[in-house]
Amino acid sequence: MNEPRRGGGPCILLVEDDADTRRLVARNLEAHGYDVEATPDGATALARWEARRPDLVLLDLGLPDLDGVSIIRHIRREANTPILVLSARGREEQKVDALDHGADDYVTKPFGMSELHARLRALLRRSAGPDREGDGAVCSGRICLDVPRHEVSVAGSPVHLTPREFELLRVLISAGGRVVTRQRLLEAVWGRAYADEGHYLHVHISQLRRKLDAAAPELEAGAAIESEPGVGYRLTAR
Ligand code: CA
Repeated sequence: MNEPRRGGGPCILLVEDDADTRRLVARNLEAHGYDVEATPDGATALARWEARRPDLVLLDLGLPDLDGVSIIRHIRREANTPILVLSARGREEQKVDALDHGADDYVTKPFGMSELHARLRALLRRSAGPDREGDGAVCSGRICLDVPRHEVSVAGSPVHLTPREFELLRVLISAGGRVVTRQRLLEAVWGRAYADEGHYLHVHISQLRRKLDAAAPELEAGAAIESEPGVGYRLTAR
């Protein structure tokens, strides 16, 4: 039997060996109604994972005992629980490795609490099911995709996309605000043989941004598709 929940908010397992960061994040999340289980190392984290089965795992990759990726693998063998990674600046390969092994997203240290809250909300919302409107329409902020009809609109204005651009946007919207690695986008849109053809992606993302911006010029340029240097892209709602 799993241990009972404390309070009414989602249960978050926080795995962080730095005591100051752990206390700060735990206190802040608890103040926002989350039920936080804070652990300082990988072994304790896995024990608490088994006991609590939290709604989300917030995982520092640099732990004293276990490699963060081995914790991600362990969790993924058992559940689809969202995993948000805390990663050091400049460790892009480590982030991609974590995402490849099943982490859902990351924030880079030092991070602001508002960024952390936005990522947490996006992951918890997503695990509750994607936003859908009517028959097969998927929306993110003011961008809406009608998948069966292959139609796109921004703030109600239609946008004409090529099949590749449409597919790129569909994959980014389906990720619900999470980062999608360059390799995953290339494989999903062009196929496995194109996994290393980063320039295709660069060109098509630029084109897609240009069309989305032109459809709603009053919105801030380029902000909808955010680049995560060295990792990939994410679609932010606006
Ligand atoms: Ca650490």
